[in-house]
Amino acid sequence: MSSSPAPTDAASPRRLAFVSGGFYVAGGLAALLVAGDRMDLAAPGGRLVTAVGVLAVVVGALLFAVGRALPRPLWHVVVGSGTALVALVVWACPDTTSAVALSAVFTFIAIDAFFFFPPRQAVVQLLALVVASVTSLLSHDDVGVGIAVAEVVVFTCIAVVVGGLVQTASAATRDPLTGLVNRRGFDSAYEDLLVAAERTGAPLSVALVDVDDFKAVNDGLGHAAGDELLARIATVCRTTLPAPVVVARYGGDEFVVLLPATSGPEALARLELLRTRVDGVTLSCGVAQLGAGESGAELLRRADTAMYAAKRGGRDRCALADAGSPALARDLAEALRTGAVHVALQPIVRVDDEQVVGVEALARWTDPVRGAVSPAEFIPVAEAAGLIEELGAVVLRQACHDALALSDAWGLPLTLTVNASGRQLVAPGFAGQVLSVLDAAGWPTASLVLEVTESLIDASSAAALEALRELRGAGVAVAIDDFGTGYSSLSRLDTVPADIVKLDSLFIASIATSARRASVLRTVLDLCSSLGLVVIAEGVEDRDQAHLLQQLGCPLAQGYLYDRPQPLATLLRRGPRAAVTPAHDGPHRLAGDRIVAALFPGARTPAVAATARPALAAGETAAPLP
Ligand code: C2E
Ligand code: MG
Ligand code: MG
Repeated sequence: MSSSPAPTDAASPRRLAFVSGGFYVAGGLAALLVAGDRMDLAAPGGRLVTAVGVLAVVVGALLFAVGRALPRPLWHVVVGSGTALVALVVWACPDTTSAVALSAVFTFIAIDAFFFFPPRQAVVQLLALVVASVTSLLSHDDVGVGIAVAEVVVFTCIAVVVGGLVQTASAATRDPLTGLVNRRGFDSAYEDLLVAAERTGAPLSVALVDVDDFKAVNDGLGHAAGDELLARIATVCRTTLPAPVVVARYGGDEFVVLLPATSGPEALARLELLRTRVDGVTLSCGVAQLGAGESGAELLRRADTAMYAAKRGGRDRCALADAGSPALARDLAEALRTGAVHVALQPIVRVDDEQVVGVEALARWTDPVRGAVSPAEFIPVAEAAGLIEELGAVVLRQACHDALALSDAWGLPLTLTVNASGRQLVAPGFAGQVLSVLDAAGWPTASLVLEVTESLIDASSAAALEALRELRGAGVAVAIDDFGTGYSSLSRLDTVPADIVKLDSLFIASIATSARRASVLRTVLDLCSSLGLVVIAEGVEDRDQAHLLQQLGCPLAQGYLYDRPQPLATLLRRGPRAAVTPAHDGPHRLAGDRIVAALFPGARTPAVAATARPALAAGETAAPLP
């Protein structure tokens, strides 16, 4: 079940407790029945068998109640004690019939051994059983060697059959490629660990591990190389995260790790170690610790969100979900108070000619001790610590201020996009606060796009939808952020009142290397176009991606290819990058212009005519609207 050799996959702690508890109770009752039927309860033999029978029933009841918490090695004691107790009653029986009848209870031991332990340890238990049964039976004068051997043959046959069945059942829960637990095995292990964590109160953490750019390995080097890579990662998992940690292969290139008795920060440190030990590829990990009253599905969802945050934060990193860190929340609150949270602006360009048409505001925080903290880390903390509204207001105020300065200095009409988390959307009075910040800053409502980044649940709650409608009514546009991965779903396209869809960088990453991905992109662009939604491709990093986006008619993009998120001062110093000569001057270009014109009719016009205004392609502003 775990990444290191486990007893058997079928032997979960719960099953161990139920099976052995049941066998102890049944064995004890058998002893009491035989004693009542055939023995003088006043004689020493009858008294001993009765006492052992009662003891076995009590031990069985205890195993039912608390057996799940027993550490694995103690099960050897449970089974070994069973052997000793059965041998004792067989030996103590005053007559042969009772002894032979009670020796049938040895069968339970044979089953337990091959159910609970890996084959080598089970054989040791079986040998102990053979010695105990033969010795105790032969202590009765009229039991011959033939009877004892017959019993041994029966126990051995039962043991072999049980062992075979258990191995077959275990194979169904193992992934043949990596030898790790598969999804089915994971489900059963997860269920057991959740029950144990609830009962003992010990922490339980879960981590999701995804191989960065695995598709590129598969596409570039072939599936055999991909398989070999996965098997190699599994080996590193086994050595770095030994039992009781459970490592499962969850999907194609995704692994899930269960860390019992481990807090979130401890789990994060162990996953960091794993990440650094894997060669050749990078990993993104999301870690979450089970919260009070939290379900297994919720815990997995948080780990998944943290993993996507790690991906968004630049991959090759681990992120811890939610407010695991009160210290971080305290320092963030202080940073908000002292104005240490800043905004970086990332240009959004028209794909055809790379003309800057807008900027996305991204929160930045450099802590004096921790250094630069990624928004992937501090936004969830802000949400959980109730700081997100304040952070949102700080970011929006500064973003408006910076975008005004940039638009005026560059002499470019710009649209400003700002992220809002689901928790901000559902906060009472959110729409009114946004509008009053815009009003105070002098940034036109029609030049603002609100990016909704939260999960479907939050984003489609009645209060969130109402806030979005109110803002749209005032002229603000709404973008669905990170579409195409994680929790985005097609139903968001018609449940969230939106104008723009931002395609997630993880989706864009492989468009130029995978023909299938490119056709999905084409279809998404068609779908968005028929729904009247404008598309912005995020995370564009190379020319091939940009070229394909242009060919497919994607109007807008942002990414390191064009510009990284920069502080205002850097952008002002550098001036707008000159628009490139379009590689294509055909129908796509015209379509792009129309969409941009339709999308940004309210793009804020600069107050000062700029000298740095880049040359626009002829006919660009005159493109007729449909
Ligand atoms: P997002 O809104 O999807 O922002 C895009 C992220 O992708 C940014 O990460 C940006 O730096 C990064 N990025 C841009 N171009 C590229 C590229 O070419 N390649 C790659 N690999 N990455 C690129 P960042 O700044 O770390 O922000 C992460 C996320 O944090 C954002 O994702 C957004 O969801 C959240 N966030 C950032 N600022 C705020 C904020 O003020 N409020 C809220 N609620 N969330 C924010
Ligand atoms: Mg965004
Ligand atoms: Mg995004």
